[in-house]
Amino acid sequence: MAFKPANSIQDLQYFGEFGGVNPSISDSSTYTFLSAKTMFDTFEGNADGCYLYSRHSSPSNLYLGEALAAMEGTETANVSASGMGAITPVLLQLCGSGDHIVSSRTIYGGTYAFLKNFTPRFHIKTSFVDITNLEKVEAAITKNTKVLYCETVSNPLLEVADIKGLANLAKKYNIKLVVDNTFSPLSISPVKLGADIVIHSLTKFINGSSDTVGGVVCGSQELINQLRNVNDGASMLLGSTMDSLRAASILKNLRTLHIRMQQHSKNALYLAERFETDGLKTVYPGLPSHPSHELFKSMMNEQYGFGGMLTIDVGSLEKANELMELMQHRNLGYLAVSLGFYKTLFSAPGTSTSSEIPEEEQKAMGLSDGLIRFSIGLDADIERTYQVMRNCMEELGVLTKHSTSNI
Ligand code: PLP
Repeated sequence: MAFKPANSIQDLQYFGEFGGVNPSISDSSTYTFLSAKTMFDTFEGNADGCYLYSRHSSPSNLYLGEALAAMEGTETANVSASGMGAITPVLLQLCGSGDHIVSSRTIYGGTYAFLKNFTPRFHIKTSFVDITNLEKVEAAITKNTKVLYCETVSNPLLEVADIKGLANLAKKYNIKLVVDNTFSPLSISPVKLGADIVIHSLTKFINGSSDTVGGVVCGSQELINQLRNVNDGASMLLGSTMDSLRAASILKNLRTLHIRMQQHSKNALYLAERFETDGLKTVYPGLPSHPSHELFKSMMNEQYGFGGMLTIDVGSLEKANELMELMQHRNLGYLAVSLGFYKTLFSAPGTSTSSEIPEEEQKAMGLSDGLIRFSIGLDADIERTYQVMRNCMEELGVLTKHSTSNI
């Protein structure tokens, strides 16, 4: 398999059926056959180029899947109705009763809840570990472990996984390294670093317009065939299929991802540097003070930067809420969960996207009450944004006029 570079999106060539520059949208849930024999062969999975029923696959979904596979450097991909609709079938396909997963403890709250509360019903156990400590990760692997699971850059603490180190462990113990790359599309290519399977919530940067949820699993042809198998494929049977109209619109947005990521990263780096200089507790992988700054640098596709996500800690939930409300009032962004929008989005993860994680565990992993997670937008004049943000912080006493933090 030839690895296609991360910016190879322009190399893809799909025409519409009338020569349109965009592929035609497949507006059908079912497909007709000239012969009954071909229909039978399609059910058996050996009639390439034929479509049967859109829960299995559709031309529009395949176009988007192929584009994402090219981006991540995998043989192929399967798109789904949401990020969770990609994560849950992969884990259920790879693990059965009695199997074990080693997962990062700092992951998206929904994934955490799935592993902590849901998969035990099927006798699948998960050990949650500090993913930045490879010794602890290795120590958690048992003879029943089938999957090593992490986010490249974790939600919301922005911990960075050492994908090469984890991939070596996965190879040593013959288990699959599954990486959620939602926070770092293009910036990091996990498969190039040894990961087996890459997942995205397309809801975020990849679609970038906060108008839909969506997901993708990028992996080998063998894995994707298993997921789509009509008899025992978790994607096929659990049914979290993306609609073709959405696949077509996400494909169009994907084409500007490289430009958007550059701008998200540029703006986030600018603000992170200013906030840190102001004395605010700032976490951003692009800051030399980030514990995994050098690791990120060693893994990244440099031209896309360190991503659009940063956090600051303003000391208490009350202060965080006040500041977010004021910033929204001044039109600096929206008090909203999710990420990757053209406007800045901010939320306090402890009470929102990570609220599934019990309080004591939030504390243990360093998720504090005053933490604000920012998804930095595509602002054309980020210096002006910074000035207005600073004014908000001064007004609320988070910063004094002379730049130093009051916390
Ligand atoms: N992975 C990460 C890192 C996320 O932040 C999210 C959602 O916030 C998901 C997965 C789930 O994706 P979706 O909401 O599209 O199901």
